Formats: sequence, C-alpha cells, structure tokens
Amino acid sequence: MANVRLENITKRYQNVTAIENISFKIPDGEFWVLVGPSGCGKSTIMRTIAGLETANSGNLYIGDNLVNNIPARQRDVAMVFQNYALYPHMTVAENLAFGLRMRNVDAARIKERVETVARSLSIDHLLNRKPKQLSGGQQQRVALGRAIARSPKVFLLDEPLSNLDSQLRDDTRAELKQLHQRLGITTVYVTHDQVEAMTLADKIVVLNKGKIQQIGSPQSIYAKPANRMVAAFLGNPAMNILPAIYVNESFQLGNQFLACPPSLQKRLHPKEGQGFDLGIRPENIEFFTPSAAENDDLKRDLWALEKVPLDVEVKVVEPLGRETLIRASLPLLSAETTVQLQVPASVRCRSGDRLTVQLDFDRLFIFDPSTGEALYP
Ligand code: ADP
Repeated sequence: MANVRLENITKRYQNVTAIENISFKIPDGEFWVLVGPSGCGKSTIMRTIAGLETANSGNLYIGDNLVNNIPARQRDVAMVFQNYALYPHMTVAENLAFGLRMRNVDAARIKERVETVARSLSIDHLLNRKPKQLSGGQQQRVALGRAIARSPKVFLLDEPLSNLDSQLRDDTRAELKQLHQRLGITTVYVTHDQVEAMTLADKIVVLNKGKIQQIGSPQSIYAKPANRMVAAFLGNPAMNILPAIYVNESFQLGNQFLACPPSLQKRLHPKEGQGFDLGIRPENIEFFTPSAAENDDLKRDLWALEKVPLDVEVKVVEPLGRETLIRASLPLLSAETTVQLQVPASVRCRSGDRLTVQLDFDRLFIFDPSTGEALYP
C-alpha cells in the first residue's frame, strides 16, 4: 500500500490541454473519486498514474518513489476498466492468475491466492467458466479479482460499474465499499456519476476542463461548493441557479424582490444593478399548494417575514415514489427559467397548476455570475 502524490501534472495532446497543473496527495489507504463531466480529464489523470500516458510536466510519486520514468508494469498499480478487458479464451481461474503468472509467482502460491480472491468476491463457483459464460456483474467481479490477486499498492478503477444495470450497479457499489474497507488499498476511482462519487469517496476531486475545481469530503463539497459548476454538478436533482439583480437592498428575481439581510450586505458589498446567481437545491424550496397560492393573506405574511413568494407554473410532475419532482417555470428578468422542486409524494398537483414557492437565505447559495465563484455561504 502507498500514498499517491501528483505535483503540477500537465498533459497535452497536440493542441489540447487534457489536464493542467493537477496536484493532490492521496493518503495511504484512502478511496478518492475523480468526478466531472465527460472530457474533463479524469481518464487522463488515471492513465498518467497507471503509466499508460507520460505527462508533459510535473511529478508523480507512488509511496516515496518518483515514478515519472518508471514503466507501467513496474508501478505496482492495478487498473480495472469499464469494459473489464478479460481474456476471452481463458477461464476465470486463469484470468485471476494472469498477473501473478506474469510475475513468475510459483504455482502453489498462485492457486491459493486465486482461491482466496475468488472466495472473497463470491465467484469461487465460477472458476472453470469462460468470460462469455458469465453475466455482466460476474465479469465485473472477475476483473476486480484479477486486480486484487496481485495485491497492488494502488487500485485504479475507471468507471467500473457503468456497464451494469441499475440494481446490480447499486449492489456492486456497496460491495466495492466493503471490499475497500476490508483491503484498505489506496484507490482512485473515476466516474461521471455523482451518486457513485458521493457514496464511495473519502475525498472527491471535482474536475472541469482539465482543472481541479474542488477537493473535499462528499459532505463538505455538498454543503460548501467552491463554485457554481461544483454546486450544479453534485446533487441529484441538480441545484437550481436563478439569475438575480441587486436593486434597492434586495435581490430582484423577475418581478419579485428578496430582501438582502444586513449581514449579507456587509459581506457581499453589492452594488446597485449588480448581477448575482442564486442557487437553491430542489429539496430546499418551500412551497404552497395551488389553493394556498391564491391566498393573499399568506403572501402578506410572507412579505412581513421578508421572505419572497414566487409564483411558478407547474410544467411536469414526475413521481419518484417517496418524493415527487416538479419542474415549474418561473418568469425571470428576460426569460422563463425552469426550477425543480422536490416535494413529498403526498403533494398533489398537475401540469398547469400555480404554486407559490419561497426561498430562504439559510438554504441559499450565491455565486458571482461571471466567474462562478461561490460568494455565500
Ligand atoms: P474524461 O475521462 O473526463 O472523459 P479524458 O481524460 O478522456 O476525459 O479527456 C480529456 C481531454 O483530452 C478531452 O478533451 C479529450 O478529447 C482529450 N483527449 C484524451 N485523449 C486524447 C488523445 N489520445 N488524443 C487527443 N486528445 C485526447
């Protein structure tokens, strides 16, 4: 086992800078997840750690060793790909043994190791089958097993669950977590799926356009995203981002005004007419049903509490079982914006209904619209 340290790693392909100045250190035994939209550089980082790519600049350490010039097979890392890459003509046992055989481990030791690993992944009854005689989930376990069998210092997993159907993906995700708890091997895991990132990671590295946006625990990134990209990327359904303008000590959202508390005015030093992006997660929007929305007394009460009632029109209602996701349109500044609300399943509403929603500063995020930088909380 070992820590993994990247220092200012940059990798270019012709004129594309795939990753730029990437630095982080994964402590021994931790599970780190690289996450971000397609093309953000996740696989390039992974392939650079594996030794399948050579960085243009920067240093890479595994344990105390600088490995920039060490070939992939001497790095003692094991990589599992999305497509498993099993040898089709070999049995499961032979696939599991392959890495050990390449290292000239003696036959008795290989046999024992293969059996131990197969048992730990519950594939010991499949040892004589060929990959095409296995389900996707079983093939995936064999690929993991082949990597584990070598007892690598570092595990690199590149979207290992994306070929599985959703139930199997959830189960395998939980098993992977258990496996990591048991083996404690330093792991780098690539995914574009933010649920996998949130559930598996000790630390998440959020990437965009080849650059690190934020590194932190899932909880800390969710609670305090560094910028609008991170805020919108982590969380399902995604955070609503509503453009507003600061007018007369309030944020103007369409024809409504949200009074800005004095403490926030002190912090933001907003200028009259300045634009802000307000972020609110779908589960944090309070709302009133159609009949309540007609109630002018209620609105007056809300105004008295300096809370902004916004009228929205329900467009799509998506029941999810325990909750319902509502997509509604909100007339803002120049254009209609869609807002998503997550409400209890007991709430009854239909397309065309009007709802009054309410934003609360305790739940609000504020971003600089030009840089995307988080200004609050
Ligand atoms: P991700 O894994 O996040 O989808 P990648 O690391 O695969 O992203 O790619 C990062 C960027 O580098 C993308 O713009 C991609 O098009 C580019 N890229 C990756 N591999 C190559 C290559 N072999 N040649 C040219 N460009 C590449």
